[in-house]
Formats: sequence, C-alpha cells, structure tokens
Amino acid sequence: MAAQMAGRAGLAVALAALVGCATNPVTGRRELSLISESQEIQMGQQYAVEVRQSTGLVPDSALQQYVRAIGLRMARASERPNLPWSFDVLDDPAVNAFALPGGSIFVTRGILGYMQNEAELATVLGHEIGHVTAKHSVQQISRAQLAQGLLGVGSILSGEVAAVAGIASQGLGVLFLKYGRDAETQADDLGFKYSLADNYDVRAMRSMFEMLGRVSSAGGAGKLPQWLSTHPDPENRVAKTDQRLAGITTDLSKTKLNRDPFVRHLDGLVYGENPRHGFFAGERFNHPDLAFRFDFPAGWKTQNQPSAVVGVSPNQDGMIALSIPGTEAPDQALAKFLGQQGIVVGATSRSAINGFPAAQADFQAQTQSGAVAGRIAFVAYGGSTYQLLAYATAAAAPGYQTAFQQSIQSFNRLTDQAALARQPNRIRLVRLTRDLTVDEFNRQYPSTVSVTAVAFLNGVGAGTDVLKAGSWAKRVQ
Ligand SMILES: [Zn+2]
Repeated sequence: MAAQMAGRAGLAVALAALVGCATNPVTGRRELSLISESQEIQMGQQYAVEVRQSTGLVPDSALQQYVRAIGLRMARASERPNLPWSFDVLDDPAVNAFALPGGSIFVTRGILGYMQNEAELATVLGHEIGHVTAKHSVQQISRAQLAQGLLGVGSILSGEVAAVAGIASQGLGVLFLKYGRDAETQADDLGFKYSLADNYDVRAMRSMFEMLGRVSSAGGAGKLPQWLSTHPDPENRVAKTDQRLAGITTDLSKTKLNRDPFVRHLDGLVYGENPRHGFFAGERFNHPDLAFRFDFPAGWKTQNQPSAVVGVSPNQDGMIALSIPGTEAPDQALAKFLGQQGIVVGATSRSAINGFPAAQADFQAQTQSGAVAGRIAFVAYGGSTYQLLAYATAAAAPGYQTAFQQSIQSFNRLTDQAALARQPNRIRLVRLTRDLTVDEFNRQYPSTVSVTAVAFLNGVGAGTDVLKAGSWAKRVQ
C-alpha cells in the first residue's frame, strides 16, 4: 500500500459513439477511429492521474527529470510531436513499462534497476512511444472498457464488489500492455528507429531483451516480470533486433550508450519491495509509514498492492481487503457503502476498534458471480479512514464469521520498533579499480541479495562473468 490515498477505481469518461476515419500517423493509412485525438488525450491523462496516485512515483526529482528529458526529446522527434507527452518513474518493484493513450508513459524502478545504460532506457521508452504514435493504445480503449468490470484480485471477486472496494485499478497497466504480437513488433521497430535517430547505440535493444530473458527464466512462478507476461518471447525479439541491426548502415561506434550518467542516477534507488509501504510477517501486515498493523486469517494467500492489501482464503471462496478510501468519518463512510444498490444491511455496530472510532455492519450483496455475504468496517486512524472489507460466497460466509471478526478487530497501532524502523534495500554503486568477476565483487562488496541477482543487476548472467575496471558496479544493501 502506498501511503497516499487511493482513488476510486474506474474510468469516468464515457466512450463517445462517434465513429470516424483518421490517418494513422505511423503507417499513413486511413483507418477507422472510434475516438478523436482530444478524447484520446483526456482518457489517457485520467488514467495517468490514477496510476500516479495508486502506485506512486519514485521520490527522486533528478531521476524523474533525467528520464523525462530523454523521453520528451525522442517523442518530440516522433510522428506525433505535439501530444502532451509525460514520462514518469513509478515506485514499483515489478519489471514493467507501459504507455497510456495520448502519450503518458511509465517505467518502473524495477525495470530501471536492471538497465545498464541510457541507450537501453531509450529503446524501452522508444517502444512505448511507438505504442502511442502507432495508436495501439487508442485501439485498446474499447477493449479495456469491456474488461474493466472483469479485473479482480481473487477469483471470486466480482467486478461490482471490486469497484465497491476500490481495488480494481491495479489491472490498468496490464490491460494497456496486451497488444497483439504485430503491434509489439511494430513498437520494437519504432523504438529502434527513434533511438537510432537520437544517436543511441541501438545494440542496447539486444542487451535489453537478453536481460529480460535472464530475469524471466530465473523468476519462479508468479515472479514473471509484467513486461514479459504481456510481450513476445525475448529470444524472438533478440533475433528480430539482429535483423534490424543488419539492416542499418550507421557506424554504431559513433553512437552513444551513456553508461555512467545513467547508472549514477540509480545510486540509492530502492530495490525490491519497499517495506515502508507495508510488509508481511507471517499473517500480520505491518505498515511502518502509516504505523498500523492488521492480521489476516492463518493460511490465507495475501498480497500487498498499491491501493489495497488483500487476502484470499485457501478455497478462494472468501476475501479480506484493507484500503483507505478517504477521510470521511466512519459513520458516513459506512452509510455510503451500505447505500449502494443491491446491498442488504444486517446488524450494525459503532463500537471502537482498539480504541479507534469505528463503524461496522454485516451485509449481503448480489453480484455477477452470485450472492456474497460479509462484514464491512471503517476505522478512523491517523487522519484517514480505513476500510476493512471481508466477504465470502453466501454458502461459505457462515464458516468465516469468526475469522472475519478477528481480522477486523486486529486492526491496531503498530508499536513494534523493529517493524517501524524497517528500511528497504537500495542499489549502491562501486567504482571498480580493476576487473572483478561478480563472485569476487560480491565477496569484496557483499549484497543483501543473491549473487545471481547481483549479476543480473550488472547486465551479466553469472557469478563467473567479469565486471570491467573503470565502470560503476551495482550492489544491493
Ligand atoms: Zn509493448
């Protein structure tokens, strides 16, 4: 959970039913266009605000300005120079990059950490710029809207209840990433072209795909980088990049990699999950920045997402979600929740939870996936009102009643000093004075992550690979 408020999920813009014909800026072909450019921009910007709020930006203005400057320079040289382009680094450990319609582009700190130079960054930004200039992201809008109601956390979570809980927005980036294979190849073509036009050493596109391949094959189940789960196989992309490289006459020895200026911007960047945004110790969720804790039932599968922390029962027939919808008093927030169409209200209570003002109620609701029943609670704490939503299928709900009660009553101030003081791992730079294998480097400058992770962060595949004298090497501490 990010410390800032999470907005309610949902796209407020209605898709206008205007069907027209427009020229595709990249292909020059006339094609059916469902929305105007101004609508495209409006929609993208609305999503972008939501992405920035729910996930949060890396709090490093020098890094943000650096990425923005590179992206803007390339975008303004593209086929759509006049869009209101924006480039942001998200405070997200996932290896990901995506484009929203109208030119809002995001890269995560997770993907930046694995990059070695500015040229690699340029090819990724160029790829995302390509999705916008070739209008792939516009073509996704209606499909995205159809899918909007299908996003969810647990398998029983219906769109309606997800919307009620305000936790559906995580799927946005993924939605916009799911272009077809042809669109991805075209975006790679464009990324290559834009990077080369900006005098970057486009061999970096190859090393970028090799890195993604390494990270992907090392990642266990559930750790697949997002950019890979939605993009073609990196090996195919390496082969296609080799064809692109064979087809150019540019002398690449005169192009730029900009390794040092790039890597120096990564010094101090958080690596992996940031415990300041909450972390689990068994079933207990601790949030140091917001100074609260919350217990999920034993054996539940839990996940800390940007706008909510959620748990799903082993049978996937029950779930609990904690989020921060706003600052309204618990009474008012409860009344608003229960006032929603289709909700049947049961017993309500205004007893405090561990001394904090609270309001809670049993409820039933009819959803697309059947009847559900559960308990909703709002607690005022630290200037915010927390929403604790626990529900299950109508059949399973009686069996979870005690577990729901216990979880809701577990919400409390975090007082554990070690948990409050917990700090994230960060990337730190070391200037190498001689050649070192990753193994040697790791012995001399130990990291809090595995040797393999250190190798990957430095753009090589194994501990026996060599890091060159004179370069900045990355460690994690
Ligand atoms: Zn793509």
